[in-house]
Parts: sequence; structure tokens; C-alpha cells
Amino acid sequence: MAISLSQRVINLLRGPEVGRIRFSFPDGAAAITVDRGMYHRVASAIEHRRIGIFPATDPALIPSDAGATYDGTPVDGGTIFIRAGKAWGRDLEGDLVHECTHAGFDVDKRNTLTALNDEAAAYVAEVLYYRMSSAPLSYWAGMVSATDRSFLYGQCAGALAIP
Ligand SMILES: [Zn+2]
Repeated sequence: MAISLSQRVINLLRGPEVGRIRFSFPDGAAAITVDRGMYHRVASAIEHRRIGIFPATDPALIPSDAGATYDGTPVDGGTIFIRAGKAWGRDLEGDLVHECTHAGFDVDKRNTLTALNDEAAAYVAEVLYYRMSSAPLSYWAGMVSATDRSFLYGQCAGALAIP
């Protein structure tokens, strides 16, 4: 029996590599932690259909250069679109970790998070996923521009040093 797209994302979020992602960053006076607990909550939200998973090719739903995208509607849950026909593998999985980080902030109702921190944290999670799955540095080093990278280090000091 073919495994559904939703089940594949759930398995990814409950898998060992995502389970090792853990970092915190400041948000105003508080600290926000991204860890396996958050990804498990996203997996549950997918299981309970509060977050929908759909294949898409329409540029209105998914930009031409994206493997996945998240359309957040915090009240009802959001929708994750996955490029139809894109091969399942580390590249797509990293994209999904990125989008599921955005989804996690919605699930956890992190309403005070700035758009910049939201995006930076999603990139850090994606890069950590590549590291946790033992992708070589060359695999992910080019995906974040130098400007973004210095910003990420500033926002999430130490996160990228996790072995
Ligand atoms: Zn993003």
C-alpha cells in the first residue's frame, strides 16, 4: 500500500534526525525553543487534519523554485504544499523541516515572533536537519546567502555548532 504524503511528513517529523534538532533564540524578553516537541505537535496537527498536506504545481500556491511552502492560517491551522512530482529525499525533507518550523510557530501560537525571526529560525532548522542527516557541508553551505548566514549566527548563536 502506498504511503500517503501526509504520513511521509509525519514520519519525517517523528524521525531521529528531526528529533535531534534543538535550539533556542531570544524573542523580546522570552526565549523560544525549537525542538522535537514542537515537531511532534505539528505531526499531531497533520494527523488531526488541522494542517493539510497537498501536492501542488500552481505558481499561485508554490513558487517555481520551492520544494514546499506553508500557507499559515493560525486560527484553523495551515496548509503545506509540496511540489508535485518532486522526488522524496533529503532536499525535499529539508524544505519540509523549514516549512514545518513555520507551522510549529503557528501551532504553538507564537504570535509575537517577528517575520525575520520566524524565517531565520526556519533556516536554522533546515540547516540543522541537513547536518543531522550527515549531508556534507557543500550540500547546504550555498543555500543561505552570506548576509542571511551572519544574521542566523547572530539570532541563533551556537545553534549551528550542535554536532
Ligand atoms: Zn520560510
